[in-house]
Parts: sequence; structure tokens; C-alpha cells
Amino acid sequence: MRLTKSDEKANLYRFEGNNFYKAKKFYDAIINYNKSLCFSEIESENLGLAYANRSAICFELRMFDKCLKNISLARAHNYPKENSEILKNREKKCLEFIARTKSSACKEFFKLSHKCHEKIPYIVNSLEMKVNEKYGRHVVTNEDLHVGDIVAIEESFCNVLLTQSKFVDVDQNNNFLRCSYCLKSNEFELIPCKSCCSSMFCKECYNKAQTRFHIYECPVIEQLLTSGSVHIALRIFFIALSAFDGSIEKLKTFMNEIDKEKSLTIFDIDVKETSNVKNYLKVLNSLTRSTTIFPLTQHEMILQSHQELSKIWNENKEFIREFLQRQCQTNDHYFHGIFGSNLNELKSTAINDLQQSIGSGWFPFCSLINHSCCSNIMRIYKDGKVAIVVSRFILKGSQLFDCYKTSFINTPKAERQLKLQSEFGFLCDCEACEGNFSILQKLPIKDLNLAKATKSLEIEMMISDNLNKNYKKFQECCRLIEEHRNKFPCVELVLLQKCFAFYLLLQARK
Ligand SMILES: [Zn+2]
Ligand SMILES: [Zn+2]
Ligand SMILES: [Zn+2]
Repeated sequence: MRLTKSDEKANLYRFEGNNFYKAKKFYDAIINYNKSLCFSEIESENLGLAYANRSAICFELRMFDKCLKNISLARAHNYPKENSEILKNREKKCLEFIARTKSSACKEFFKLSHKCHEKIPYIVNSLEMKVNEKYGRHVVTNEDLHVGDIVAIEESFCNVLLTQSKFVDVDQNNNFLRCSYCLKSNEFELIPCKSCCSSMFCKECYNKAQTRFHIYECPVIEQLLTSGSVHIALRIFFIALSAFDGSIEKLKTFMNEIDKEKSLTIFDIDVKETSNVKNYLKVLNSLTRSTTIFPLTQHEMILQSHQELSKIWNENKEFIREFLQRQCQTNDHYFHGIFGSNLNELKSTAINDLQQSIGSGWFPFCSLINHSCCSNIMRIYKDGKVAIVVSRFILKGSQLFDCYKTSFINTPKAERQLKLQSEFGFLCDCEACEGNFSILQKLPIKDLNLAKATKSLEIEMMISDNLNKNYKKFQECCRLIEEHRNKFPCVELVLLQKCFAFYLLLQARK
């Protein structure tokens, strides 16, 4: 069912938000204010009222810049004149606070650790793609890489926000907390779509999202949000269509041409222009596909449910079917889950909850990295981007390895190999499989001093807002892992890796 704007609903959500606000439950309050924004009718004073209430939360949470932004938004959206004193007072207090507190800008942590690559600016210069019979395409480094080095920060070509999933636990309110374009958690600054009630964007993402895909998705958004991988395939189709100014004939010609081309990777194209959709489409469509034929009933149903989309579908059935089939066949292999910080700080502080599944996306560079059951890199997600962080020393000339699913730490070799064979179709002969590494419980302790140092880092593992302190712990983990690398695998190093991951995740948190 298509949801429509309704001031009545907008009012209800705002009142609900006010109750949470009074109870100091700001997380729930913000969700309700954002829902209220989404349902407010165009030009309604409900927009102004919800922005004003959001500014009140920002004030309580001492986010004065965001508070001022919401005050401006409230004024620009029909906030009732008779209440303008409230905003004026809040604004005055904000400015006073800002003047008093000199901002201590935190050092930027997520940046590349070395000079960037000439062709691909978001990876470091030492990375190269190689091809051989055994590994196919893979990524090697032509310089030593050290533990903690950030070697890539990649944005996905196409990412889809999850609000529901059969497979993983996701926050159903993601679309009221995160930007539907960049997936960043931006709950205090999101702006609602003018037409639908289910999408919000950052100010700077709004127009990009509308022209890139949302003009097509908007009328059927409720169906898309609950459709999982169907959404991904349709999203790519919409992005492709708008790259050709909505002309399906032009898209057809382009697709027919790339079919004949050889297999391409991100290293073959000029990616300096990130909006270069056509190049990405070339790469995406030259990827190896599964031979499975996917049913397209749900895709068709969604397209048929809207007049304009159904016209496009009915006139180009054969082409669109083939296009979608291709996307479905590559999704499983090339789309990775995207994780984000758990926004509800009060909910839980366990390490597993630090990052939650928020969506799915295609990362053209990262998908070139092969699997190993004892990886030497770790993926960290921040604002919808993925950073590749070196987690074990990588010698010049060696390959980067990611762990797709099965780590030697908790899965025995036979089980790992079976899983990888059935899901990805290869017999793993990584360092852990070849070397018959034991699972954690059966690993030896090799160095008592290192075990002691690890224990103390482990004991202090808890959520703390002190970024500097956390960063020091992170550096200590990096140093120990690198210094004792010749003892790998042993209990101490595996536990140190866990501390490393924990402190890294803390850095990725807002
Ligand atoms: Zn955004
Ligand atoms: Zn919309
Ligand atoms: Zn393996």
C-alpha cells in the first residue's frame, strides 16, 4: 500500500515524540519527529513544528550546530509566528554555548595511511591487481603494509538501505535514522522526501538521490523497502536508466555494446569521476555470473504497480528481464552487507552490537580481494563507506586476504571447506587450511608476557567516549600483533586481534 502525506498522522507522530521527549527517551523521540516530518503535508506548519522539536533534542544533547540548523529549517517551513520567541531564545543560548566552548576538533582517523593510487584515488598506491590461474584476479601490495594501515576507503556504487530482512537483525526505523542515499546515520539533519512518506536524505544527498534513482522508486517505495535483493536489482536498473536521461533506447544500445567486451575491473577504468555510472555498469556487467535463473515475479509486480513504470516494463519486457536477470545473478557474489554503528547507545554495549547490518552494496575494489580463513585485513564501515584496515603484517609482494564467512578461529577446517565449496565454489587452501590451524579453544599459548599484555588490553575493553585513550589502546594492539607475528597462530594473537577489532570499531563510531 502506498502511504500518503497526512497532517493528521504527522500530528500523532509529533505528539508521540513529545511524550518520549518528556521521558528523556531521545532516541525514540527523534524517530517519531522524523516520521512526523515524512508525513507532514507540503507547506504544512507541521514541518516547522517537527524541525523545532528536533532542535530541542539537539539542544538537550548539546549538539549546538545541529540545533541551529534545525531552527533554520523550522523557520523556513512555516513554524508558527506566535511561537517564534521559543526559537529565538534557544538560538541565543546555542550561540552563547558555541562562543564559550572552543571546539576541540578530533583528529580524523579514517584516512588512507599512504599516498593514494594514481588511477584509483581511494586506495593506496602500493596496491596492484594481478591475475593468475590459481587465484584469478587478486590484490597484492608492492610495499610492506603494517598492522593498522588503512589501505582503502571505498564508496559503494549502488547501496540499498535495509529496513527488514529475513536473514539478519535490522532496525525497522533505519529509513527514519539514516540517509537513503549515503546510508549515513544523520537522524538530526535528515530531510523528508517531498512526495513519499518513507525516505529521508541528507541535505546534500537529496537532489543526487532524486535524479539517480528516487524519481523511479518514490511511487513504489513501500514495496521496495520490504523486497530485499529485488530492491538491489531494480535500483541498478533505475540508476542505469537515469544515466541515460531516462531513455531506455539509449540504455539498450549501450548494454548491447558492452556485452561483447572483455571482462573489466576497476583497474581498467578511470574512476576519478565518481559519478561515472556508465563505467561502473561496464564493470558490473562483465563480472562472472552464476547460472541460476532467478524468478522475476516480484520485480515485475512492483514495476506493474505504477502507471509510468508499467509502461516502461510493458514496452521493453524482454530487455528489462535480461537486465534484471544479470543483476540477480551477480548480487550473491558481489554485493556485500554494509554495517553501521548501533545508534541506540542505551540498547546494548556488547561488542557484537557495535556494528549492525544496515544495508547491502557493491564495492568494485573490495570485491577483488580473495578469501582466506585467516585474513590479513578487516573491513570497517563508516557512513556507508568501507575502510580496509590491515590486521596482520603483509609482506611486500603478498596478497591481501579478506575472510568471507568462515574464520579458522571458530570453525573447524572440514566445516569451513564444505561451506566455502557449496557457497562460493572453491576448495580453500589458505594458510589456515594448508597449515591445519586449530580453532581458538585448541590453540597453544606461546608467550606468557604477551598473554599478560593481551589480558590487560582485554580487561579494559569497554565502551568509552575517550577517543584518545581508545586510540592509544588501538595502537598498542597494532604494535603487539606486528611485533609477535612470528608466533601466529596462538591464543594471545587471536585474542589481540579481537581487541584490535574492538578498538577499531570504537573509532568508527560517531
Ligand atoms: Zn546522505
Ligand atoms: Zn519519495
Ligand atoms: Zn581456508
